[in-house]
Parts: sequence; structure tokens; C-alpha cells
Amino acid sequence: MKIGFIGLGNMGAPMAINLAKDHDITGFDTIAQPDGIAMATNAAAAAKDADVVITMLPNGDILRAVADEIHPAMKPGAIHLDCSTVDVQSARAVATQAETHRLAAIDAPVSGGIGGATNGTLTFMAGGPDAAFAKVKPLFDIMGQKAVHCGAAGNGQAAKICNNMILGVTMIATCEAFVLADKLGLDRQAMFDVVSTSSGYSWTMNAYCPAPGVGPQSPADNNYQPGFAAELMLKDLNLSQMAAEAADADTPMGQAATALYQQFVESEDGKGKDFSAMLPRFESRRRG
Ligand code: NAD
Repeated sequence: MKIGFIGLGNMGAPMAINLAKDHDITGFDTIAQPDGIAMATNAAAAAKDADVVITMLPNGDILRAVADEIHPAMKPGAIHLDCSTVDVQSARAVATQAETHRLAAIDAPVSGGIGGATNGTLTFMAGGPDAAFAKVKPLFDIMGQKAVHCGAAGNGQAAKICNNMILGVTMIATCEAFVLADKLGLDRQAMFDVVSTSSGYSWTMNAYCPAPGVGPQSPADNNYQPGFAAELMLKDLNLSQMAAEAADADTPMGQAATALYQQFVESEDGKGKDFSAMLPRFESRRRG
């Protein structure tokens, strides 16, 4: 396949490099110039002859601006596959615009981070038409290990922000429970041994334990170097709250988690730390 790849940053570059082993890639980025990818001089040139154009961009406003540039240049029947994490409304607007240019659009945000992008083990959550999903499935198979078709346009983004709202809330609950356990004199290993095999178990406890030296290796064992940075968690929580507002959904725990991560990132030195560094944050505080 001929593929245009726009947005070759921390995630996009390794995804494009994995695809380049089997496909003809033309890239474009306003700043990045990764080795091993032939680059075009602008986004429209990267998109012009492509069967599939992949975008991996920072946010919905940039995605909409890039879509405005590339959709008129793309050939009819081509697919715009957006793997960025953006708001549901931008994903749906881009899909509607694609249809007016006789293109198909798939929104397919990822989980798995930079390690998953490099190792080709991402999970994709996709929204868009069945036929377009089937056409890009072989690309998902190269870049990732799992792709779930979640329904119509925007549903990939919906799945991603619902998952990450659960993740943020659960991480906070796990961290605050560890700190309560500390103050009650309960050993952290005993706490892990009980909770990881009891009804409080979760991915944050069992697979990504925020307590150093307890459970499997995690960013806590590496001085809370990310992993998944607190500011990226804040981005996704903010998107969940934008969606909740637009859909009139009551999400009090998501709202509380958003406020806590905002405070952590913006006023408590949390920026650049893994999102599990909520544990030392709680350790350093008293009941408010
Ligand atoms: P990044 O900032 O490293 O990469 C974004 C790239 O887009 C940059 O190289 C930037 O120069 C380029 N760009 C910006 N505007 C552009 C334009 N108009 N035209 C062309 N290129 C442009 O970000 P990232 O970490 O690669 O993340 C990309 C997306 O993936 C984001 O939506 C993010 O939320 C999501 N994501 C990231 C991670 C992660 O761990 N980094 C995990 C899951 C999802």
C-alpha cells in the first residue's frame, strides 16, 4: 500500500518505521525528520497518491487543520486513518468532512505508549465504516497486537476516553489506599498480596503497582520516570470531561480525578512524572 504518514513524533515515528518494512511510506511533520522515512515538503504532498493517510497529531484542532489540507488532495476512495487521541466531536467532524470528499475516515486512538509503538504491540480502538476498517486491519496488525472495531465514527475516541477515565480514577484510588494502609501500619507487600487477589484488584494494582518494590516492575521502580506521563493522563481526563459535558453524562469520579491530576501537573511538580507518582503525592499530604 502507499501510505502517507503525518505527525512523526514520539508515537508516529516508530509506527511509521514499522510500516515501512512492508509498505511505501511518505511522511510529513512540521518539525520531526525521522531517519528511514521519505519525507514530503507538505501534508497535501504526503497525502496525494496515498491509499491510506495516517495522522498521529497532538490534538483535535491540529487534526482538523491537517484534515482541511489533506482531504482535497487525497484520491477518492482513500482512507484517512487518524490514530491521535482527540475529542469525540473533532473525530466525528473529520469523518463527515472526509465523506464530502468521497473518502472514508477511521478514528483509531491507541493504548500502549511509546514502547507499544516501537515494538508493534499497540491496541487500537477504532470507529468508522466496516469496509474501511477491514482495509486498514492489516496495518493495525503490523503496528499493534489488537484492534477492536467499536462502531461508527468517533467511537474509537469514545472507547479510549472511557477506558482512560477508569484508569485515572483507579490509579488515584489505588494510591490513596496505599497511603491509608501505611498510616494504619499495614505492610505494603501484605496490602498488595491481599488486594491483588481480592475484590479491590485492578490493572493499576496488579500490573502497574504504584508502590516501589512491590508487585511487577513498574515506573515506581524507576523513580516514577514515565511510562505514561501525568500530563498525558490529564489530557485524556480533560477529553473525558469535554465529552461528558457535551453528552450530559454525570461523571463525578472522572471530574474529581481530572481536578486532582490538574493540580498535580500544574502546581505540584507532577509534570514529567509517571501518572502513578500520585502515590508519593498522597504520602506527602495530610487529610484536607
Ligand atoms: P508528539 O508531540 O511527540 O508528536 C506529534 C507530532 O506532530 C510532532 O512531531 C509535531 O511536530 C507534529 N505536528 C504538529 N502539528 C503538525 C502539523 N500541523 N502537521 C504535521 N505535523 C505536525 O506526540 P506523541 O507522543 O507522538 O503523541 C501523538 C498522539 O498520540 C497524541 O494525540 C497523544 O495523545 C497520543 N498518544 C500518545 C501516547 C504516548 O505515550 N506518547 C500514548 C497514547 C496516545
